[in-house]
Amino acid sequence: MATIFARWQGVLARIRTAVTLAGRPADAVQLLAVSKTFPAADIAELYAHGQRDFGENYVQELAGKAEMLANLPELRWHFIGPLQSNKTRIVAETASWVHAIDRLKIAERLSSQRPEHLPPLQVCLQVNVSGETSKSGVTPEGLGELAQAVAALPRLKLRGLMCIPEATNDQTWLSEQFRQLRQLQQALNTQGLQLDTLSMGMSGDLESAITEGATLVRIGTALFGTRTISNQAQGTT
Ligand SMILES: *Cc1c(COP(=O)(O)O)cnc(C)c1O
Repeated sequence: MATIFARWQGVLARIRTAVTLAGRPADAVQLLAVSKTFPAADIAELYAHGQRDFGENYVQELAGKAEMLANLPELRWHFIGPLQSNKTRIVAETASWVHAIDRLKIAERLSSQRPEHLPPLQVCLQVNVSGETSKSGVTPEGLGELAQAVAALPRLKLRGLMCIPEATNDQTWLSEQFRQLRQLQQALNTQGLQLDTLSMGMSGDLESAITEGATLVRIGTALFGTRTISNQAQGTT
């Protein structure tokens, strides 16, 4: 099996190729390494090679790893999972970014709990672009009101939008979902917001996300390997 370093280089090469084919600037897309269920040692290894942004889905796991890796001064934690209101404090105190906000109540708690000595928490709103009833995310119709309210919170900085498209082999439908997120971002910017981030694209679909305008791709499997039952058990909270 390839080493983590080799897989990281492979993912960076995939990103570079997609960015070039899309005719976008070389630095247009940032790699978020989604380390959920994988050990702190894997994160430290990628950090040593220069990776700085890491994504976690579970609050307890984030807290544990942040404590273990507190000696890595430039590491930025991104919380990308669904967030319950009784767990916001740890995230407000630990993360640099939160990607999956879809309710004002969660945003308000994060803003009020963000420590004064830290910069504002960078946030994205998750939009349900597939229309699946099982998916979290604000509806496209509800997005405008939520975005204006979140943008007004003092200790948050609204950076952009995030989506998890419906899993599909239909390339056209996949692209449409990503394109919809970009169009929603453009509409909000027309209304006076200044959103610069589109958090979209995972291991299996980063190329089409980059074609449609992703500025940050969230990559787990292609970097760290397949998440097995045993390593998933670490991440149940
Ligand atoms: C797990 C996860 C990812 C990474 O997915 P891979 O397919 O393993 O690259 C990205 N985004 C979110 C929100 C996730 O939960």
